[in-house]
Amino acid sequence: MTVSFADLGLLPVLVDTVTELGYVEPTPIQSDAIPPLLAGRDVMGQAQTGTGKTAAFTLPMLQHLESEGLQTLILAPTRELAIQTAEAVYRYGNQLGVRVLPVYGGAPYSRQKRRLERGVHVVVGTPGRTLDLVKQGALDLSDVRYVVLDEADEMLKMGFIDDVEAILAATDADSRQTTLFSATLPDSIRRLANTYMHDPVHIAIEANEITVENINQRYYVVEERDKVAAISRLLEVENLHNTLIFARTKVGARELAETLLARGYPVDTIHGDLPQTERERILGRFRRGTLTMLVATDVVARGVDIPDVSHVINFDIPQLGIEYVHRIGRTGRAGRGGDAITLITPRQRHHLRQIEDYTRKRMTKCKLPTREDVLARREQDFRDIITAQINEDASDAEYKLLGDLMDLGYRAEWVAAAAIKLLRANEEQRPLEDIRDPYERPERDDRTNRRDRKDNRKSKSRNGHEYDEKSRNGKSRNSSNGKSHKGGNSHEDGMVRLYMDIGRGEGIKPGDVVYGVASQSGIPGKVIGAIHIQQHETYFDVPENHVDSVLRALGRGKIKGRSMTVVPAEGVFEPA
Ligand code: AMP
Repeated sequence: MTVSFADLGLLPVLVDTVTELGYVEPTPIQSDAIPPLLAGRDVMGQAQTGTGKTAAFTLPMLQHLESEGLQTLILAPTRELAIQTAEAVYRYGNQLGVRVLPVYGGAPYSRQKRRLERGVHVVVGTPGRTLDLVKQGALDLSDVRYVVLDEADEMLKMGFIDDVEAILAATDADSRQTTLFSATLPDSIRRLANTYMHDPVHIAIEANEITVENINQRYYVVEERDKVAAISRLLEVENLHNTLIFARTKVGARELAETLLARGYPVDTIHGDLPQTERERILGRFRRGTLTMLVATDVVARGVDIPDVSHVINFDIPQLGIEYVHRIGRTGRAGRGGDAITLITPRQRHHLRQIEDYTRKRMTKCKLPTREDVLARREQDFRDIITAQINEDASDAEYKLLGDLMDLGYRAEWVAAAAIKLLRANEEQRPLEDIRDPYERPERDDRTNRRDRKDNRKSKSRNGHEYDEKSRNGKSRNSSNGKSHKGGNSHEDGMVRLYMDIGRGEGIKPGDVVYGVASQSGIPGKVIGAIHIQQHETYFDVPENHVDSVLRALGRGKIKGRSMTVVPAEGVFEPA
């Protein structure tokens, strides 16, 4: 029997929050870790990223959130993870009014200190910067009751052990509840746990579910708006037998299936809204080969018996590593090879890396087939069909028809050319749309660069600072007005970058952002700076002195009648 979030003993407000986020059921690490954490036990979990561990340690903490004071410290090995975790804590605890601050090296101390002075409930920090702030008297950990060491093995590998121990020593050992998550449990981690944890509950998520060895895993980077064009090209050039395509939502699955149907593919869709009998009927057609493509959502894919397929295509990348493994496990069964293809947008690259960390296998980055590749493939397929047909004897009736046409004065090659044209008419159903080059920032490998960053941090070198700032604030070629950039803090002095979770896909245009923000928060429209609209998210800059008004008015507001959330793109995460 599967457990629900409510079964785990979580408050209804938290159950509502995760349900709104689209989580259907707890992941194994969540079902195992949440009850003991709610009961106040220390927990030591062996789990990687992609297992849902962040919610596992955050939800119990939020359940016991008190209205004032710094009560939780989460240590993370890198700046990226600290920001990402702070964002997750904010999302899970928004309805409870949680205030979260990520602290990390490479960013000015002044702002982090100001935020600390104003009061936060949760600090998510890298060990180096956290300890610096403690030593400077800006961060008082004496009342912290809940400490999380996230990716503990990474922190130790990076040489942060002394810092972590010094930080733990600054907290009250008797009242502290300590949680440790780590992908591996070497002796150094066990020693740390023995010294600083009280009789921890041990939880391990088996890695043996991961069996993706014979699957050829590839990915393609493409802007969201070009995904249909991209999958269309792939479907033309791959040697498909039967293909399972995964979409994130029911609506998305239905739309994609309709598009592919219009292009002449024998496809149908299964999703949660369909009655069981209907699902069975569609699956039966897929098994028999009447349908060679199926577009599905995860919910459905879980409980049903889908036969081995030649290709799994992730039209939308799954959220969880475990989901990814589950999806691609539909191919390559019984030792046969299989193909798993994933489409990602440039912003999802980090997410892809997390899934790779989970499977412990790299996917190969590939280039989409060009228009010429597709045309050449169509040509070749046609030749194959025709030559195969020539080798089969045509019937007398067909020769007679040809003879009749020739008697009328048509030459054999004219008839052949006309027949070819007719036979290939179905290709017109499959338009070859342009695909723009995705904008990709040069990739840094977090894991190999971590040590550099730590060295920079120690020496407070200018380099370390530039490294971080550049990676966050590099100007985007995609910017809507030429001066904006993606994510991060604004590069304009005195401006702060905010984020809202709707974008082009929801019909948002720059004018809507200006009007929506100005009319609801009362700030003049002309002070709003760079606006960068992406498929499902928007970044916009407002002057620092107006940030509070905007967050107060739009923290959970509406634009163009659509509910949305505005949060700082980076920095403190606190509801207005
Ligand atoms: P984590 O392992 O904490 O980095 O989480 C990986 C991803 O899984 C995040 O994008 C979460 O939003 C998502 N996630 C966490 N818990 C669940 C769940 N129970 N169901 C679906 N997605 C989840």
